[in-house]
Amino acid sequence: MQIRENQLPKIKGKTVVHQSMENLTSLKIGGVADLFVVPEDLEDLKLILSFCKRKKIPFFVIGNGSKLLVPDEGFKGVIIKLGDSFRKIENHKEEIKVGAGADLSTLINFTAQRGLSGLESLSGIPGTVGGAMVRNASAFGQSLSQRVLSVKVLNKGETYFVLSDKDMNFGYRTSTFLAHKDWVIIEVNLALSSGKKEDIFSRLREIRKRKILTQPISFPSAGCVFKNPSSYPAGYLIQQAGCLGLRMGDAQVSHQHANFIINKGKATAQDVLRLIEEVKKRVRDRSGISLEPELEII
Ligand SMILES: Cc1cc2nc3c(=O)[nH]c(=O)nc-3n(C[C@H](O)[C@H](O)[C@H](O)COP(=O)(O)OP(=O)(O)OC[C@H]3O[C@@H](n4cnc5c(N)ncnc54)[C@H](O)[C@@H]3O)c2cc1C
Repeated sequence: MQIRENQLPKIKGKTVVHQSMENLTSLKIGGVADLFVVPEDLEDLKLILSFCKRKKIPFFVIGNGSKLLVPDEGFKGVIIKLGDSFRKIENHKEEIKVGAGADLSTLINFTAQRGLSGLESLSGIPGTVGGAMVRNASAFGQSLSQRVLSVKVLNKGETYFVLSDKDMNFGYRTSTFLAHKDWVIIEVNLALSSGKKEDIFSRLREIRKRKILTQPISFPSAGCVFKNPSSYPAGYLIQQAGCLGLRMGDAQVSHQHANFIINKGKATAQDVLRLIEEVKKRVRDRSGISLEPELEII
């Protein structure tokens, strides 16, 4: 698809024609997107979404790209990443209003500083608030969705609506947002609990220590690749199937955490997809269990 610079609506934010997706995903993999846009504010976002609608161009909203695999062929359409005015965080007592583009780590730091508890277990998840809502990010029994009061959404750039927690059908790594790719999450309201600052920081230190010990954080990855089946953790099944260290090109099953695929240098999306298929096959042959990927392929 040819998107020319001079056709684009004038926005305050950034637009890049032919953007490599490598640096927009935590796996550091992906071909070129026709257009990458960072809307600075709501007005920008509406202009871009109505441009896509008018020209019938597909769009895809990303957060920090930490649960995504972008094909080597890239993306034929517009990739949107929310800009600065979508990263604001405010609190009124225990209630938080946070922009969907804010990093989870910034939010957790903000709340911990104010003695607000409820998000500690999510420490170390490298996503944004928007991405964490969509994939219902969770760790050690805590999820962001458990704290959600409401979410403000923009539908195809036209209508705003507010969803309450009951409308969002949160499940394991899923929500109603996965089925509505033309909705953009703008803002999230959360209810936290008051806690002792020193307890909150001590819990954060404990969680970080556990993550450093158990996750291969020095290599690019997208976190867990497969959902845990109800019977056994996916990592256990992968290990039992003899897949630790299994490699396709530069994509490798981590020795440190069997449910992570790491990029050892120049892995391609094709390498990752071949590795996923091989792991699924070996696990099925060994245990009869079909693993389901939680990594989203754009
Ligand atoms: C080292 C590492 C550790 C991890 N640990 C965990 C963990 O413990 N628990 C866990 O649950 N996950 C974990 N993850 C996975 C990932 O970080 C989370 O799923 C995170 O919530 C994804 O957020 P993101 O902003 O990167 O979303 P992306 O990967 O960019 O996008 C995910 C989905 O959200 C959509 N999306 C993003 N923003 C918006 C928006 N504003 N409006 C509409 N749709 C939007 C995208 O279209 C896509 O469908 C880990 C990943 C890594 C690399």
